[in-house]
Amino acid sequence: MSDSTRSSDRHIKLFIPGPTEVRREILDAQTQWMIGHRMPESAELFGRIQGKLRQIFATEQRVYVNASSGTGMQEAAVRNCSRKRVLNCVNGAFADRWREVTEGNGKANAVLEFDWGRPVTPEAVSGRLQNDEFDAITVVHNETSTGVTSPIREIAQAVRSAPGGKEIMILVDSVSGLSGAPLEFDAWDLDVALTSSQKAFALPAGLALAAVSDRALQRASEIPDRGYYFDFLLLEKYLERNQTPATPAISLMYALDRQLDDMLAEGMENRFQRHLAMRDRTIAWSADHDFTLFAAKGYESPTVTCINNDRGIDIGALNQYLRSRDMIISNGYGPLKGKNFRIAHMGDIQMEDLNELLDAIEAFLLK
Ligand SMILES: *Cc1c(COP(=O)(O)O)cnc(C)c1O
Repeated sequence: MSDSTRSSDRHIKLFIPGPTEVRREILDAQTQWMIGHRMPESAELFGRIQGKLRQIFATEQRVYVNASSGTGMQEAAVRNCSRKRVLNCVNGAFADRWREVTEGNGKANAVLEFDWGRPVTPEAVSGRLQNDEFDAITVVHNETSTGVTSPIREIAQAVRSAPGGKEIMILVDSVSGLSGAPLEFDAWDLDVALTSSQKAFALPAGLALAAVSDRALQRASEIPDRGYYFDFLLLEKYLERNQTPATPAISLMYALDRQLDDMLAEGMENRFQRHLAMRDRTIAWSADHDFTLFAAKGYESPTVTCINNDRGIDIGALNQYLRSRDMIISNGYGPLKGKNFRIAHMGDIQMEDLNELLDAIEAFLLK
């Protein structure tokens, strides 16, 4: 690459909850030469990635990598895992998206609703599962529209102890959680845990990743119309050869390979602690500046903080000001626009970056 194409690293630093900031080294990793996806070089790359992904997802089962955004894996999960009825737990916009995906794929469903800002609770899930009506449940680990983390481990325990609970596929969207908030796929006994490359993994957009249990593959084998592109059994058949059925996003796989090394070098525990420290800093800053939080106390997300606009500031003007200083945050999601704003401290954002952002917001408030 010529020097002029990267003459400046000046850009708008992303404090939005996806896509997140991507480091220069990761961007550069994408510029390696193309390889064919049936060449041994590709199988070697894919196999290397698989071993590292299993560590990140805390699983000895498998992690599929496919070219799409995370929503593709939401679709895969419901198509491959339900032949009876899906219980969609809805406590925010992305949880509701999964309900739409479920219905869009013609699956019978019911909705268990929670107020936005509240977590999905194991008690409510347990209550709804008493009649053995469902064979799958969808739940969002970290609801990006509200900044709420739900207790997935406890929810999974509630599912397993319900009547017929061993037959219920536990499908978890951890798009803005995984690698920023702890998730232990095997220990928590989950069936699908999916994420996207452009959130806490801090990669460019374009890859979907999903850990899938042996039980989910068994379920898929009992379902005739799984589709093709996201058919777990086909993905499994190719994964055994370290391949994908269709052409993978090779450049992104180079970036993923590099990023996984960096994540494991940081250490997952350190990575979780860094996110918690940035969350706590954002919460303390909010209180100091007379802002309350949208998330119920005790369920505040480690990766994105949703701050109520108690002072009635012009969030659009705030973002214009931040842009002039090469930064950007997010307004409230959908119906919450203007009512709150969201700061993502997700992926490779460091405490120094966050401090710089908070200082800039403070300067805006003092104007
Ligand atoms: C961003 C997001 C999605 C959608 O992911 P895409 O990669 O855009 O398809 C789904 N769920 C949650 C919780 C998200 O934050």
